Amino acid sequence: MKTVVKSKGTWIHRLAIRFFTVVLAVLVFWVLGFLVDDIRSIPGPDHDAIDKKHLDQGLLARRDALEAQIADLARQIENQTEKQRVVGDSSRNLQQTINQLLELQKLGMQKSIAFSDTEQANVASSLSLFLDNQRKYQALSQTVSDMLERKQGLLQEKEQADQAIETQRQPARDEFAALSARHRLKLACLQLAILLPILAVAAAVTIRKRSSIYFPLFLAFGAATLVKIALVVHEYFPSRYFKYILIGALLAVVARLLIHFIRAIAFPKAQWLVRQYREAYERFLCPVCEYPIRIGPRRYLFWTRRTVNRIVVPGEPGALEEPYTCPSCGSTLFEECPSCHKVRHAMLPSCSHCGAEKDIA
Ligand SMILES: [Zn+2]
Ligand SMILES: [Zn+2]
Repeated sequence: MKTVVKSKGTWIHRLAIRFFTVVLAVLVFWVLGFLVDDIRSIPGPDHDAIDKKHLDQGLLARRDALEAQIADLARQIENQTEKQRVVGDSSRNLQQTINQLLELQKLGMQKSIAFSDTEQANVASSLSLFLDNQRKYQALSQTVSDMLERKQGLLQEKEQADQAIETQRQPARDEFAALSARHRLKLACLQLAILLPILAVAAAVTIRKRSSIYFPLFLAFGAATLVKIALVVHEYFPSRYFKYILIGALLAVVARLLIHFIRAIAFPKAQWLVRQYREAYERFLCPVCEYPIRIGPRRYLFWTRRTVNRIVVPGEPGALEEPYTCPSCGSTLFEECPSCHKVRHAMLPSCSHCGAEKDIA
């Protein structure tokens, strides 16, 4: 019998396959990332529009007007205070001048020198100027204090307006939060709606093609999708849900591994192999490559695993009386039995004629 040995390739080939499997997984992950990002860029609820709906526009305008008035008043108050300072300075100067003049007058009186008319007039005009300044100063003080009072009133009014706006803003904030939450849920559902079918396909292909030589391809595809889904779920669902999803997935994986090992002990590998070969012989397919075994009346037919039961075989089912090698993969499927010299299944343990056993590795 020709033993079917799966070529393992040189170490550099094996390394290359592993490396490119990883590269493929990264690329798939990347492509999925683009898809997810495109969904994520769908615009959410409009904050300004919601504000506009809930807030009284008249109130907002009044608050702005009040703000402008207060700023204007503050500027005026500053101007008036500046003026007041200038008047105050000039008053102090005048006071000094008058004091000096009076001092001179006192000295003159002591020395019995008469105070001239011009000097008298100087004192009088300085005095009147001084009084005039004082009046101006008082008037300015009054204006500033009036303005301050008005500013106080305006500030109070603005505070009331602010409070009213704040109470109106609360429902706007609530609505925005609710809409945002709904939008996030929508995004998550859309992303999963795209990713989950991809994962289903990837998982199905990975499981079905477990023994295919292209298995790494499907594995990379499946693993990348799985990681992307885990990230999306983690991003959009609160961690208290995520932990259940995670533990659920872990439970499934661990249970699957446990079943695998229990079965590996219960049914040793050779037994599995024989089972697989047996099923293939039952369907007249090569156990190695699934190419139809076309002998006897089936010589001119073609079928697959799915169509084998549907095809009509002409004549009586022929006895398998000749050695046969799969034309597709070269595996020996029927060979001469070494003990009875009839033709037997090459990949099943016992000869159907004499029962001689052979080792199926
Ligand atoms: Zn074959
Ligand atoms: Zn035999």
